[in-house]
Amino acid sequence: MKQAKQTRKPPHHAHMRHAVRSDAPHYVVRRSKIHGSGVYAAREIPKGTRIVEYLGERISHAQADARYEAKGQDDGHTFLFVVNSKLVIDAGVDGNDARFINHSCDPNCETVIEGGRVFIEAVRDIRKGEELGYEYGLTWESTDDPDELANYACRCGAAKCRGSMLDPVPLDKQRKQKAKRKAAKKKAAPVRSKAQPKARK
Ligand SMILES: [Zn+2]
Repeated sequence: MKQAKQTRKPPHHAHMRHAVRSDAPHYVVRRSKIHGSGVYAAREIPKGTRIVEYLGERISHAQADARYEAKGQDDGHTFLFVVNSKLVIDAGVDGNDARFINHSCDPNCETVIEGGRVFIEAVRDIRKGEELGYEYGLTWESTDDPDELANYACRCGAAKCRGSMLDPVPLDKQRKQKAKRKAAKKKAAPVRSKAQPKARK
């Protein structure tokens, strides 16, 4: 009995060690094999951990378009994050380390949008030294310049790499699909109202 007690670590010490560990930074920025700089786990990061907020200047889509399309600065290293139809975060201005997190086709992180703010969270347990990545799903239109789109080729190295950081379906096609679904619903509506009285019998 006595021996067992002696081998147990003092609880206070254990608590201190835990406190130090959870204060340690989650990540470090260094050169990436994938693209420019990357963000790497500086320690083990458990699934569900909120790692960092995506910060930058909060602007409209029109402002973002004017800023980058006009200047022709679309070189595949975009720092624009589309939050919703009204808001874009430009991490090229007042951005933090989150802007260096690369796209991955087999991501260990995801973005969570809460009250117009964007957070990057671990979707699985991440080992120390692993590069952090999330699915960019960049929006594009089928009328976009193919040379420009080629800048968004993916070299993440994942077994299921789809070769692109772009959303699989361009925006214009997504809109068409949505319109079709709406039209189909409208057509279906009178049929449904007819069916209802039948069901009551
Ligand atoms: Zn990939």
